[in-house]
Amino acid sequence: MSSSHISVRGARQHNLKNIDVDIPHHRLTVVTGLSGSGKSSLAFDTLYAEGQRRYVETFSPYTRQFLERMDKPDVDRIDGLPPAIAIEQSNSVKTSRSTVGTMTEIADHLKLLFARLASLTCPHCGRQVRPLGATQITDQVLEARAGREVLVGFSLPMPNRPSLAAALATLKQQGFLRVWINGELRRTDDPVPEDEIAPPLLRVVQDRVTVVAKNRARLAEAIESALRHGHGQVWVEEGERVKVKGKKAEADAGPSPFTLIPLPFSNELRFSSAWVCPYDGTEFREPSPALFSYNNPQGACPACRGFGRTIEIDYERALPDRRLSIRGGVVKPWQSGVSLECQRDLLKHCAREGIPIDLPFCDLKPWMQKFVIEGERREGSTLNELWEAGGWYGVKGYFQWMETKTYKMHVRVFLSRYRAYKTCPTCHGARFQPETLLYKLG
Ligand SMILES: [Zn+2]
Ligand SMILES: [Zn+2]
Repeated sequence: MSSSHISVRGARQHNLKNIDVDIPHHRLTVVTGLSGSGKSSLAFDTLYAEGQRRYVETFSPYTRQFLERMDKPDVDRIDGLPPAIAIEQSNSVKTSRSTVGTMTEIADHLKLLFARLASLTCPHCGRQVRPLGATQITDQVLEARAGREVLVGFSLPMPNRPSLAAALATLKQQGFLRVWINGELRRTDDPVPEDEIAPPLLRVVQDRVTVVAKNRARLAEAIESALRHGHGQVWVEEGERVKVKGKKAEADAGPSPFTLIPLPFSNELRFSSAWVCPYDGTEFREPSPALFSYNNPQGACPACRGFGRTIEIDYERALPDRRLSIRGGVVKPWQSGVSLECQRDLLKHCAREGIPIDLPFCDLKPWMQKFVIEGERREGSTLNELWEAGGWYGVKGYFQWMETKTYKMHVRVFLSRYRAYKTCPTCHGARFQPETLLYKLG
């Protein structure tokens, strides 16, 4: 099979006269001819029909029954044919936002697919973010910590920094037995010094469980309660059993006289039931189809409004020949008509700054070139104020001023000669806003 072109041999569909044709890949190929000469028979009834037929063949017999079946076209052989889509001539509304994707509705299907299946990578820590329910979290803990001892808990923010005694009293009232402060497991009914302040994030232990299948219900219950008290966040810390000296062993920590405490090094798993990174708290928008459409304000890159490119003044066009001097006319739009006034301004300001006006522009020092193009900017003053105060507006200021006059037809025509499309610097042509681009399929 050829990879450089589609090769058609012996096409006889409808009125095609047993023709052979090679169509290159990755090129725009136009088929022309008189009415009735077989353009559609080749494009739609042979190439598209065969591409679609082969595509449908790749599905299971069960799925195939729901898809449109196409008859095999009358042709000896076609090689190098990729899956095909056809856009028929129609009077449907086309805008500058129409693409093959929107016209064929493929873009609509992709939007739904991404909203349902795309996974998100946190830009801060690189971990995958996906909201999980208590059952899914339980499954993951059972797998990742099989046979281990774990502490399940949640973290409570203490923005007002109450005294630890007050915080513990409240928790005790709510039925919580233990908190974990600075790597130390403490009971809520232990006496605490009067002046001890609660940490900014108080870690509350929901339960201590050995991760084995028979404890599944208890683990799931602990995770569910922790999610509820922790506003959708839960942590699972690995622990170890240590022998209790002196004190009476605690009944719920396994065979006495042992108790379960967190490992001295943190070996923590965190989960979230919302679109929040459980490790650094970064919040994300819930994926919706609109987020995956660059024709929707929610999904579109704000800088280019989803076009992937921006149209801007191209200074290569405004100063096309930089071997010219300033006096010799390096700034092209200022060499005739009313704009000659700008040329006079330029000469005046160059004299003031000591910029040579008879040397080739390309030989001037970078600051001089910058001065000519960018002008001078005075802190806190607008372009108009700068101009009125006799300041230098630059080629840039001139174009900015012209852009306020685009209600005049001749100005629009004038500007179009100096504008060029540039790949959008914000999305680099991807058309989507930054948050959308964090999602990937698979
Ligand atoms: Zn993160
Ligand atoms: Zn953009």
